[in-house]
Amino acid sequence: MKPAKFDYYSPQTLEETLNLLANYGDEGKVLAGGQSFIPILNMRMSEVDCLIDINNVKDLDFIEIEDDILKIGTLTRQRTLERSDLVYDKLPLLRETCEFIGHRQTRNRGTVGGSIVHADPSAELPLVFLILGGKVIIQSEMETRETELNDFFLTYLTTDMMPDELLTSIQVPILDIPKGYAFEEISRRHGDFALVSAVCLMDRNLSGEIIKLKLAIGGVDAIPFLANEEDLKPLIGSGLKEEIINEVAENILEMAEPDGDLHASSEYRMHIAKVLIKRVIKRAYLRAERNEVPI
Ligand SMILES: Cc1cc2nc3c(=O)[nH]c(=O)nc-3n(C[C@H](O)[C@H](O)[C@H](O)COP(=O)(O)OP(=O)(O)OC[C@H]3O[C@@H](n4cnc5c(N)ncnc54)[C@H](O)[C@@H]3O)c2cc1C
Repeated sequence: MKPAKFDYYSPQTLEETLNLLANYGDEGKVLAGGQSFIPILNMRMSEVDCLIDINNVKDLDFIEIEDDILKIGTLTRQRTLERSDLVYDKLPLLRETCEFIGHRQTRNRGTVGGSIVHADPSAELPLVFLILGGKVIIQSEMETRETELNDFFLTYLTTDMMPDELLTSIQVPILDIPKGYAFEEISRRHGDFALVSAVCLMDRNLSGEIIKLKLAIGGVDAIPFLANEEDLKPLIGSGLKEEIINEVAENILEMAEPDGDLHASSEYRMHIAKVLIKRVIKRAYLRAERNEVPI
């Protein structure tokens, strides 16, 4: 199928882009890597009057560190993130996760910002930036604002953004990130969207006790979510005990009610969510062991 007719603009600067967004309002849409949006247009699941292609706005394509904050421009390709030595050095979790996003061909075009704004509950980057405490920088002609990712995802494919706004970058604080990390997902075939995914960050002391723990999960709700501290508490101060890991997995999923679909029933998603939570806790613990934090 072909998309319905639209006007096409290819701005060269951020100012031009924001001006177009202000003029077109909800009749205009940003085109980034096009890996999600072009199929949506082609299948006529959405129509637009105007497509604002940001691929020539070179100022939106960067990876840098400033004041212990990793800053990633929205137009950074997922494959660039995956191959960045800077990212590997500071946030190896991010690099490891990129390999699960679609295929190398889609990562060559797909952008970091596009994945975040698209807000698929099974997407890898929203989940990982969420656990890393990331925030997004959003600009319009009127203002620039920041939002924690925890508040950014509203529901399935929906974020806290207005039609005249552009996500310009994502920022992640790189100090005090726990040393142990693990990401796991299950999809039907390599490169498919995950059915469920889980990610864990952890520090432990020399006695083997867990002293810091974060866990996030995707694919079991309309948005990816962070486990709350209370649910994780049984593991804090403890070693790696199977019955406590089970208890924590039960706690985290207590309120989850995943939808069933063509790919997996609700029960199956719950089952693999439990399996993945246990796996990421165990793998993060092993990695934390190699990076032991003094008591
Ligand atoms: C075969 C295939 C497999 C895939 N598998 C996976 C997978 O396993 N995991 C995964 O996460 N993704 C997967 N994807 C999707 C892919 O990662 C997309 O790249 C991503 O979802 C969207 O990024 P994009 O740059 O292509 O954005 P686009 O498709 O261009 O845009 C997506 C949406 O975001 C909006 N948008 C984009 N950038 C901005 C911005 N800066 N400000 C405001 N709005 C913006 C657009 O208007 C549009 O609504 C797959 C895609 C394909 C084709």
